Amino acid sequence: CGIVGYVGSRPAVDVIMGGLRRLEYRGYDSGGVALVTADGIASAKKAGKLVNLDDVLQESPLPASTTGIGHTRWATHGAPNDVNAHPHLDASERIAVVHNGIIENFATLRDELEDAGYDFVSETDSETVAHLLHHELQTTPDVTEAFRAVCRRLEGAFTLVVADAQTPGRVLGARRNSPLVVGRGEGENFLGSDVAAFIEYTHTAIELGQDQVVEITADAVVVTDFDGQPVSTKEYTVDWDV
Ligand code: GLU
Repeated sequence: CGIVGYVGSRPAVDVIMGGLRRLEYRGYDSGGVALVTADGIASAKKAGKLVNLDDVLQESPLPASTTGIGHTRWATHGAPNDVNAHPHLDASERIAVVHNGIIENFATLRDELEDAGYDFVSETDSETVAHLLHHELQTTPDVTEAFRAVCRRLEGAFTLVVADAQTPGRVLGARRNSPLVVGRGEGENFLGSDVAAFIEYTHTAIELGQDQVVEITADAVVVTDFDGQPVSTKEYTVDWDV
């Protein structure tokens, strides 16, 4: 329902929790965050209000990180509980995924992945993307290229934001039939399901077009189509006070 991604120099968990709070108005049933740390992906997720997630983070703080993703969920596939909350990780905990929307062909993909030996832990359509990306990485080592290949296989509506433990300092996003906006900062960049996610930090935004993939690092924003062809983007200034 609400999505935030961050790469920069601030504590990512604070930027992400702040962004999720600004997206609360959309309604949600659970929340979660994943960070890329020196020891891999560190994540926390919890059903209910964001204060529940705050409590989890207070009790067991995540290691420091300046790269991460966050989500508030509005359940469509699977009950609103801790396991079904996003982010979803692959079994090796290399990849963390948050998703808005519905992957219409998830059952087919899930069958295919289960036949290939992947175990699913949640009831969501979204978890499919984490395993599919892990699977694709076995033959396509570049994570952005592998992510594009995954996007080409998905049907339905999705805003996806992905972190990869083996590619620190980079967050990926993609969209089809569901919105994704880039926030451009100085030495930091943001992704959001809407500008509220990052309005506290920057008013410079880029709206992603249909079937586009974005890669953000602290200093760069690279947008392509699902085949990897560069596309031109247009920056605009968000006319809002906070
Ligand atoms: N279909 C996904 C789920 O049920 C994402 C829902 C959302 O947009 O928050 O987990």
